Amino acid sequence: MNRWDVIVVGGGAVGSAALRAASESGARALCLELHSPAHSRGSSHGHSRIFRHSYFELPDYVPLLRHSTGRFESLERESKTSLLNRCGMLAMGPPDSEIVLGCIESARRWSLPVDALDAASLRGRFPWFSVSDDAIGAFEADAGIVRPEATVDASIRVARSLGAELRIGWRVLGLLEDTGGVTVQTDHGNARADAVIVAAGGWTSQLLPELAPLLTVTRQVQAWFAPVPGVDASAMPCWIFDRGQDRRSVYGLAPDPAAPSDAGGTPTPSRHPKLGLHGSGDIVNPDTGAAPVDDSDIERIRSAYREIAPSLAGDLAGCATCLYTMSPDGQFLVGTRRGSRRIHFAAGLSGHGFKLSPALGDALAQLATTGRTGLPIGFLAPGRFAQA
Ligand SMILES: Cc1cc2nc3c(=O)[nH]c(=O)nc-3n(C[C@H](O)[C@H](O)[C@H](O)COP(=O)(O)OP(=O)(O)OC[C@H]3O[C@@H](n4cnc5c(N)ncnc54)[C@H](O)[C@@H]3O)c2cc1C
Repeated sequence: MNRWDVIVVGGGAVGSAALRAASESGARALCLELHSPAHSRGSSHGHSRIFRHSYFELPDYVPLLRHSTGRFESLERESKTSLLNRCGMLAMGPPDSEIVLGCIESARRWSLPVDALDAASLRGRFPWFSVSDDAIGAFEADAGIVRPEATVDASIRVARSLGAELRIGWRVLGLLEDTGGVTVQTDHGNARADAVIVAAGGWTSQLLPELAPLLTVTRQVQAWFAPVPGVDASAMPCWIFDRGQDRRSVYGLAPDPAAPSDAGGTPTPSRHPKLGLHGSGDIVNPDTGAAPVDDSDIERIRSAYREIAPSLAGDLAGCATCLYTMSPDGQFLVGTRRGSRRIHFAAGLSGHGFKLSPALGDALAQLATTGRTGLPIGFLAPGRFAQA
């Protein structure tokens, strides 16, 4: 039976970051991945994710966000790969927008450079958007796009250069902990580790059933549109538009001129802006997969886009489904399995976890190798829910 210091289950955003961190600490680390890293049935594909620091969701994330951005930068250097595009991030909404006011409050609390904007300055600086006369905004220049597939690939390359191993097409079936370690049961036989990190995204409930009542996996659609002919979108930032209570907020990713080509050499649609509606979606079994994108999905996104940025809502250039794994309060579940010393997890990343994956990977690797972490993840412990 193979013996490892750390086995990481899942080679997506969090698993690849944890593998990198564990390898850097000198641990003998193995990653087991059911499909392939950042594959298109999980949560870490689609060429672009927003990273930002003025966090309306909860200001407690800010130290983890700062840590993560530093780790993306060091990963760029170590892997000699461009992962970040600092095109900025704009939040817009009505005068009582929790998103915009939350960004401003988070910036104030952590002394982050963010411009607070009124409707006139929004129109002057960001002419693509149609905002009402009482709209407010918050712009963070030190924000933008992180490239997910390239990031996962870079983390795994760095980890492998330090001796880590990756097994693709291996499904972990169960985890049996005893006083001496953890037996990891897989469809290719068993392996043994001192500690296990579960970074299984939408599949987490299969391995940690006690978290199942707290996790809901939903189908999301991302779509790329070319601007209408003659409109230049090249200087636009990433953005989120708060349409007020009871309406899903709309987010957009800036066009990414350095977006890589796919394996066949075809340029990805990310040379155009990407759109999505944040919030609810159909519940999905990740093994069955999300239903393909259909006309009604595209029409829903296109009509929101027409309302917010009509000059950008041209021809559809591409679309894909993706999974959110939601927790009840939209915040992550991170920690050590109840009653265990050796099994650690990050789950329920609730549609905003990519930008924080380096901090989560570092925290999990520290827990796995030393039993403690200096990163402030206590507010993400599942114990905040009565069910846990
Ligand atoms: C449309 C969309 C837009 C988003 N936008 C943003 C954004 O702008 N900014 C941001 O920060 N975040 C964003 N997110 C969220 C972010 O992408 C996710 O939170 C993050 O990628 C989740 O990473 P993960 O490692 O938890 O899951 P995944 O990347 O899905 O990785 C889990 C991996 O575990 C593997 N696995 C599962 N079970 C097993 C098993 N039993 N054995 C072996 N392997 C297993 C899976 O195959 C998978 O590869 C977005 C998500 C979506 C869907």
